Amino acid sequence: MNKSQVRTRFAPSPTGYLHIGSLRTALYSYLFAKQHNGKFILRLEDTDQKRFVEGATDAIYSGLKWAGVNHDEGPDIGGPFVPYIQSQRLDLYKKYAQELIDKDKAYYCFCDAKTLEEMRNEQVARKQAPKYDRRCLKLSKEEIAQKLAAEEPYVIRMKIPENRTIEINDLVRGKVAYRSEELDDQVLLKSDGYPTYHLAVVVDDHLMQITHVTRTEEWLPSTPKHILLYEYFGWEAPLFAHLPLLLNADKTKMSKRKGDVAVGDYIKKGYLPEAMVNYLAFLGWNPGLSSEASAKGEREKETYSMEELLKDFSLERVHKAGAVFNIEKLNWYNNYYLKQKSAQDLSAFVWQGEEKPKAPEPQITKATAIECERSNNAEEIREKVNLLFNPPAFDKSLLNWKAMEEKDIKESLESSQKIIAGIPEKDFNSENLKNILMEEAAKRGDKGSLLWPLRVSLSGLKNSPPPFDIAEIIGKEKSLARIAQAIKLL
Ligand code: GLU
Repeated sequence: MNKSQVRTRFAPSPTGYLHIGSLRTALYSYLFAKQHNGKFILRLEDTDQKRFVEGATDAIYSGLKWAGVNHDEGPDIGGPFVPYIQSQRLDLYKKYAQELIDKDKAYYCFCDAKTLEEMRNEQVARKQAPKYDRRCLKLSKEEIAQKLAAEEPYVIRMKIPENRTIEINDLVRGKVAYRSEELDDQVLLKSDGYPTYHLAVVVDDHLMQITHVTRTEEWLPSTPKHILLYEYFGWEAPLFAHLPLLLNADKTKMSKRKGDVAVGDYIKKGYLPEAMVNYLAFLGWNPGLSSEASAKGEREKETYSMEELLKDFSLERVHKAGAVFNIEKLNWYNNYYLKQKSAQDLSAFVWQGEEKPKAPEPQITKATAIECERSNNAEEIREKVNLLFNPPAFDKSLLNWKAMEEKDIKESLESSQKIIAGIPEKDFNSENLKNILMEEAAKRGDKGSLLWPLRVSLSGLKNSPPPFDIAEIIGKEKSLARIAQAIKLL
């Protein structure tokens, strides 16, 4: 194999949405290839037709594109090793399965589902690990010929050698060894003529000249079988890097039941691709600190653009232990990147394709920027901005600061009303409002007794931006109207 050009691949099965963990796998593969001036290939592994889901392929393309994890070859753009969809390569797998039969490295198995089930039950009852007992390996040439002539359904199984240790030099996990006794005579070709994952992945990784196989740890137990297949075919095996699994906080494998796992959900909610990429890069990797930097008391850099990741990412620094998916951290990154945007760009991002509240454009832009401060994503910002322009009805008890009496609340609101009414339109901005209202609040000792009822009357909410910001956004007239409305409650 020509290893001078690094070639990595992302090989998802189109069985549903694009899982966030899959996007991380793709990202790591992409970063590694690009750092080595190599190629990153997309291949669709759709040989399990029962699990195929309509629309899954589009979710893969759009998710990768959104994240900027761009492939150099793939089903949609072609390349030197077309087709890049396994269901279009069935003849190839049949040919290679036959080659293994001819080499006596694989055999026909005619056992039907019922026989296999019984075998399994007996083994379990005997407390043995379920495994194919190789009864079809004992068939004579004539018996096989007869069964084939009678068109009995069959699968092709690989022959696992006896008494062998198979070693993997994993780029993340180091040396990992398996004993051949632990391995089952894996089915390579199914009775419907489709290959299993194991045959297809080896044939394709070889033919597509993949140099580095990057995938999650759940595939590690399959790797010794793959290494044997490379050996049987007389092919050089690629290098392997098994990435840590993504886990829920309770350390179980990350699944739909415990929250959003589909990349599409995050796109819909208004996460930024740069936040997702930065977050996913750190889910199982960190750049570390040079000893000089650490001596100087510097902290590890946490915000990384794709360009910076291309410079600093390294497979060697990928962790072995599973990585816990932490939504707060993703939210932190998203909030950070949202705040980096200009008010104009932020507003364009937050409201693209969405219905805006009925308010002048500059007010919407301002409100969007202000609500961004304490929001995790565009969806949340939109909800909050909508509430700013259409505040909810609220109970008068919400106006209560500590143990204020109603008459004190009324007095407080009336004095805010007076102050606000006295500010000329041209000076009606957050800064000015803050200066003037804070002066009054300070006079009262407990600032909350002025600011809380005012803020609630403007927002109708327990939590909201400061009253000065809301007042500036909605303007003098609406501010006064809302305060008057609140006074009416008392
Ligand atoms: N088709 C497999 C998957 O869905 C690919 C595993 C591999 O990368 O070898 O994850």
